[in-house]
Amino acid sequence: MAKDKDYRQMIHTARWAALRRSVLSAHPLCERCLEQDRTEAATEVHHICPVEDAVAYADKRRRMFDPSNLRALCHNCHVEAHKALGRAGKAAAIRRNEEQTRQVIERFFGKRAET
Ligand SMILES: [Zn+2]
Repeated sequence: MAKDKDYRQMIHTARWAALRRSVLSAHPLCERCLEQDRTEAATEVHHICPVEDAVAYADKRRRMFDPSNLRALCHNCHVEAHKALGRAGKAAAIRRNEEQTRQVIERFFGKRAET
């Protein structure tokens, strides 16, 4: 996944390091593995809503540091979570494009027919 420069800057802050540590000490076991009755040490912290999907810097920051947007995962589950996000992200991008195309057509061709 391409990481943008705001993300790279925030991931290297002391604030993120402290938050990451506190998430991992509150959840020493992978949350996704636990749901599937496996016991695996959590080693990574996942952002449920991807930080770099936000457009405005303030929104990126909110997602980055929002404890409710974080999940403690093992490496394998983190990889799987991003694979799932990639699939969902592609489908959402296609839907967004189709909707924008529809609006453009309506605006430039639909309205002109009325005047
Ligand atoms: Zn796991």
